[in-house]
Formats: sequence, structure tokens, C-alpha cells
Amino acid sequence: MAKVELKGISKVYDGSVRAVDNANITVNDKEFVVFVGPSGCGKSTTLRMVAGLEDITEGELYIDGELMNDVPPKDRNIAMVFQNYALYPHMTVYDNMAFGLRIKKVEKTEIDRRVHEAARILDIEKFLDRKPKALSGGQRQRVAVGRAIVRNPKVFLFDEPLSNLDAKLRVQMRAELSDLHIRLNATMIYVTHDQVEAMTMASKIVVMKDGKVQQIGSPLYMYNHP
Ligand code: ADP
Ligand code: ADP
Repeated sequence: MAKVELKGISKVYDGSVRAVDNANITVNDKEFVVFVGPSGCGKSTTLRMVAGLEDITEGELYIDGELMNDVPPKDRNIAMVFQNYALYPHMTVYDNMAFGLRIKKVEKTEIDRRVHEAARILDIEKFLDRKPKALSGGQRQRVAVGRAIVRNPKVFLFDEPLSNLDAKLRVQMRAELSDLHIRLNATMIYVTHDQVEAMTMASKIVVMKDGKVQQIGSPLYMYNHP
């Protein structure tokens, strides 16, 4: 179970920049919700508030009915995948995926099990001993997703994860992430400025503009009401 509710959420930077203005969004269990809109409309800020990487100025954030505003990121049971991969360059793929679990003192055999399972799902088993620089962009992005999977999070957050990839790879990774959603049976929130990405991946689309939620609907509804 993982339901995420944003109730009247706002973010004001520096006392004046209203980056997010009164967002009301419900992400139901196992939904794949895409926040879409032009650069600067507040998508990333909204996602970062869900992750706990940004304080909420106004409003309430609930995960499974529990108020999260003051809960630190590590206790939110959420994993985020970033656009720039954020891999440790000096570590192998295996160590990159295991690192967070080692810090959390997860048992070694359990870490091993989770890393291999994630690597198998993402088809990166043969790269486990490599360093990130010996990987292609798509492979690196898979490692970044792998780091999120091993945490067993309730909710996955993606911040423009494909925007550094070339067009062909983007199309392929879109399909892979959609498959992953089905396979993991997880709740996912995905931020992009790319309307095609939103239309092809989302079970629900949240359109943002100038910090406000403009529209929420299914991809089919959005297609028919551009
Ligand atoms: P998007 O993800 O849709 O591109 P962002 O959430 O990154 O939009 O940004 C929304 C608005 O908030 C923009 O006007 C941006 O300049 C501003 N903003 C983002 N981060 C900060 C920050 N740390 N300090 C001040 N303003 C910020
Ligand atoms: P790692 O960054 O390798 O996972 P930690 O587990 O020590 O190492 O994480 C440090 C902090 O960053 C914790 O608060 C953790 O919850 C948060 N954090 C780390 N990775 C992620 C992620 N992928 N998504 C969300 N939060 C993360």
C-alpha cells in the first residue's frame, strides 16, 4: 500500500518566489502519475517536497494517511531517481547499489540478494564489477534505478530521468520503466517536460503551469482535451 496525498501544498522560496501554489494531488496505490509542464513550473520542487528534500511552506503531505511534513527523507520509505544518475564514480556498480543498504546495516546476504535481484530485473548483471565510467548512458540510468529498487521503497520518484539520453534510448527506457512499474507493482511519481513521455507512461497526468496544478486526468482524457 502506498497512497500519496498533497493537500494545499505550497513552496515559497526566499520569502517571495511562489514555486508551487496550493497543489492538491492524490497519487493512489500502484498508480504511475506523471507531473508534466514547462521548465520552471514547479514539478521538481513538488517532487522534492514529497521526497523530503525540500521543506513544505504550506499544506500537508500524507503517505498512507500519515502526516509526513516533518518526517526526514530516510524515514519516508521513498526512493528517488535523479536525472544526473548521481552514481559514485570510484565505486563498482555493485557497490553503488549496495552502499545505501550497508549504511543502513542491512545484513550482507540480504544486500547481496537484493542487488542481484535488481540487477537481474534491469539486465545489468554482467556489469556489476564495472565502474560507472565504463557504462553507456542507458546502463548508468539502469544502475540509478537499481539503487532505488534495492531500498524496497513504497514509492518511487523520478526527476526527468531520461532527459540526458539520446532520442532512441529514451524511447527504449520509457518502455523499460513502464514494464518496471508493472513488474514491481509499485507507486510511481514521474516528472518530465516531455508530453510524449507523459502520454505514453502515465496512468494519471498532472499538468502544471506557473506553480499551479492546471489539470489532472487520464492520458486519454488529456489527448482529447489538449
Ligand atoms: P520545474 O521542475 O518545473 O522545472 P522547479 O520546481 O525546478 O521547476 O522550479 C520552480 C520555480 O522555483 C522556478 O521559478 C525556479 O527558478 C524556482 N526555484 C527552484 N529552486 C529554487 C531555489 N532553491 N531557490 C529559489 N528558487 C528556486
Ligand atoms: P545512499 O545515498 O547511498 O542511499 P544513505 O542510505 O546513507 O546512502 O542515504 C543518505 C540519505 O539520503 C538518507 O536520508 C536517504 O534516505 C537519502 N537517500 C539516499 N538515496 C536516496 C534515494 N535514491 N531516494 C531517496 N532518498 C535517498
